[in-house]
Amino acid sequence: MDIHEYQAKEMLAGFGVTVPPGALAYSPEQAAYRAREIGGDRWVVKAQVHAGGRGQSGGIKICDNEQEIYEAADGMFGQKLVTHQTGPKGKGIYRVFVETAVTVERELYLGLVLDRSSQRVMIVASAAGGMAVEEIAAEKPDSIVRALVEPAVGLQDFQAREMAFELGLDPALTRSFTRTLQGCHRAFTELDATMVEINPLVITGDNRMLALDARMTFDANALFRHPQVSELRDKSQEDPREARAADRGLSYVGLDGNIGCIVNGAGLAMATMDTIKLAGGAPANFLDIGGGATPERVAKAFRLVMSDTNVQAVLVNVFAGINRCDWVAEGVVQALRDVSVDVPVVVRLAGTNIAEGQKILAKSGLPIIRANTLSEAAERAVGAWKHDRSQGFNPRSAASANTLRVVS
Ligand code: ADP
Ligand code: MG
Repeated sequence: MDIHEYQAKEMLAGFGVTVPPGALAYSPEQAAYRAREIGGDRWVVKAQVHAGGRGQSGGIKICDNEQEIYEAADGMFGQKLVTHQTGPKGKGIYRVFVETAVTVERELYLGLVLDRSSQRVMIVASAAGGMAVEEIAAEKPDSIVRALVEPAVGLQDFQAREMAFELGLDPALTRSFTRTLQGCHRAFTELDATMVEINPLVITGDNRMLALDARMTFDANALFRHPQVSELRDKSQEDPREARAADRGLSYVGLDGNIGCIVNGAGLAMATMDTIKLAGGAPANFLDIGGGATPERVAKAFRLVMSDTNVQAVLVNVFAGINRCDWVAEGVVQALRDVSVDVPVVVRLAGTNIAEGQKILAKSGLPIIRANTLSEAAERAVGAWKHDRSQGFNPRSAASANTLRVVS
């Protein structure tokens, strides 16, 4: 789970990281008012979206008076900000952060990530801050310094001092750097983060070290034990389909195709998506209903997939081990009866209670297309979708609602 810059700053400040004075606003009036509260004569208005790259996309504006702040904020609220990290649809701006503008002498990069190969928290820093870490890695790989934290003893001050030296920091700043690093590391481990990034970490004209930007990502599986983090979730920044799925405890990733997928197991879900591609279609989603899925859970998954208006055919592929084909079949039938599903539905079942499952599907009297193998199922789903398309029929569009459907 991601949080906003202002939230990450507040969190990190609680762990001893120094940040510039700033305040949040929900309207242009409030932005101007908050600047007055902060004081000073130069501010930055920063769009709060769950993505970096705002500086290059109009999401960061330096302002010299309240009028400019009002106008900068007014130009942001309600807009979609598109950066290289948001995808082409962009992310909505509903909050702005007003912050004291500081004079920047040097920009550093600081990131903490989970390094899976060493099973350690890895600290990555670079003297070439301000640009994205991918750019630093491509353009100035030699500027990157790394350190691994030994979990038994935690981050050691000498590691921070060593890094400060490698970054060529003024020795007078070693202490600030150590405190910043220790604060980030404590926040990372105590809050079950998977990423903490300060880019840029700056050195100001008066030789102070400040976090000018901050990003944090948290392990969704550990959120239950950090209510102070989980309450920071902002659904306006998430793909609405994925937000709905998360609310229902389903593992779902929205994609751009038209074939909705309901599958058990991440591996089988990936294989199903591949097979759909092979059959000439494109999956609308990744969805893993998990093991031991009840009919209610299957029906929930079905409704979720159908709520995506791009879905023009559904493929249910369940290889039941812990799952039961009869429960899956019941769930499919239940969902088809509840919501008027107007697209072709292909079901392929295998494994536990297969005979009972097939019976439930057959007895339902619903127009479910059955398949025995995965490739057959994918071909039928893609075939049905292509057939509709060749007839100029889009089952999900209002224009096609009264069109006579020719089914071969
Ligand atoms: P993003 O990473 O999304 O582009 P940042 O918060 O890193 O957003 O801001 C981009 C750039 O804007 C920074 O590298 C810095 O040069 C400038 N900037 C951001 N905040 C301030 C601030 N408080 N004072 C002065 N400059 C700032
Ligand atoms: Mg940044």
